[in-house]
Amino acid sequence: MWCRNCNHETNGAKCELCGNETEPVIPTEVFWCDHCNIPIIKEVNDSKTKKCPLCQSDLNYLSADIRPVFPEERLLVEILLDEPMKYHDQSVWANNNRYYFNGKSKVITTKYYKKYDPEYIISELEKYKKLNTYEYFDCFISDFTKANAQRNYYIIDEAHRFIREEASHYPTESVVVSFSGGKDSTVTADLAVKALSEPSLVHIFGNTTLEFPTTLDYAERFRADNPKTIFRIALNREQG
Ligand SMILES: [Zn+2]
Ligand SMILES: [Zn+2]
Repeated sequence: MWCRNCNHETNGAKCELCGNETEPVIPTEVFWCDHCNIPIIKEVNDSKTKKCPLCQSDLNYLSADIRPVFPEERLLVEILLDEPMKYHDQSVWANNNRYYFNGKSKVITTKYYKKYDPEYIISELEKYKKLNTYEYFDCFISDFTKANAQRNYYIIDEAHRFIREEASHYPTESVVVSFSGGKDSTVTADLAVKALSEPSLVHIFGNTTLEFPTTLDYAERFRADNPKTIFRIALNREQG
């Protein structure tokens, strides 16, 4: 449990220092390892030990939160900056409109997105598509996953406990996964199947009839990769 008021971890529902109600989730912040060239996520109360779990180097504060920037998005940003492929071999991350290239930040405001017409951007994206590999991205993601493994186990465990608790209020046959074919529902499906030890959990794919063809392809692939899953399709034309 965490007291936001005192920045202090406690076991109780109330903070013994200030009496405030505590919250279950300890906030995190993101640091940067210059040596590994990746972000390290740490709980706020763990920040005294600002060392990289992989190389033991000292870390520098980066941001409150972070997400990976996939090569496709990185190339788009480079095109807007008139420097296509410049950061291809760099470790690129973002928090809102602030991008981090090897730990150095640059804000990409909306004015950049208005700079070129879509036809030009599409032609540039096509031009560099073949060169824009996942070679470097995959290495940084692999190191990031290793360095933040403890954090990953912690949030998986927390999600499993939450799902088990919520599902316990309903009969098993009423528990379904709402599957949209995106990354969030893919993670949700994996967490729910594992938390409930139920590989034949019903997944409902809400097809709005406006899905991208790649989403439909992915839903088919997901189905083939999870043969035990019961897959139902809900056609919802009203949203269209
Ligand atoms: Zn307190
Ligand atoms: Zn490191």
